[in-house]
Amino acid sequence: MSLLSIFRFLQNHIRYGFVAMASMSFLSAEEIPQNITPQNIAPPPASANFAAKVHEDHSTPPTPASVAPTAPLELNKITYSMERTFIILKPDCVQHQHIGDVISRFESAGFSIVACKMTILSDAILREHYAHLAHLPFFPEIVEFMNSSPVLLMILEGENCIGRVREILGITDSQAAAPGTIRKTWGSDKMRNIAHASDSPESAQVEIRRFFKPEEIFSSSTK
Ligand code: ADP
Repeated sequence: MSLLSIFRFLQNHIRYGFVAMASMSFLSAEEIPQNITPQNIAPPPASANFAAKVHEDHSTPPTPASVAPTAPLELNKITYSMERTFIILKPDCVQHQHIGDVISRFESAGFSIVACKMTILSDAILREHYAHLAHLPFFPEIVEFMNSSPVLLMILEGENCIGRVREILGITDSQAAAPGTIRKTWGSDKMRNIAHASDSPESAQVEIRRFFKPEEIFSSSTK
């Protein structure tokens, strides 16, 4: 082997070495940003994923509702619509033995009895309860009918209880009440219409206080 061929051999190998090294470093430089990212080093924790999901849609900035867990919101919804209403099962209901039928309608609708007692209402308390009718000619008749026998006083508790109980009860005139309502099913006329139910949250509050002491009232959640 001549000196010239030794020189060419060394020259070629040194050149290929440089090309190979340059190629390797070039390929490595390309691969690093694609394959080695924080996500590939270790899977992100669940909380990190949740945060990323909330923030990835920039068109809709995160709101308290989208960030907060669902359960407390549902809880709030139930809490806000929970109501209590005051009921009198009138003398015609008691005398014709429809107490069980009427209570069954309320319980089937999902309402709970949280207070209950049987009593004969005095003229004084009836005049107070029906004060909005005192100017009407049939008012004495109403008082006479309402204390003609014992009545059952109740407080019902449940979601949207006040309006829904009035729907289940039907309008004042039993004959004209909608089919399937309590008054249509068991009532007789405008006066003998089976039950009273509060007509608004304000009335319910006043009537509950009028007929029940605080210690006579329980809660459906603690029964
Ligand atoms: P509701 O009991 O449907 O809320 P009102 O508050 O108007 O109706 O009347 C209270 C009660 O007075 C009625 O439930 C009924 O017993 C009696 N009453 C109402 N209107 C008449 C009427 N025109 N004739 C006889 N009694 C009536």
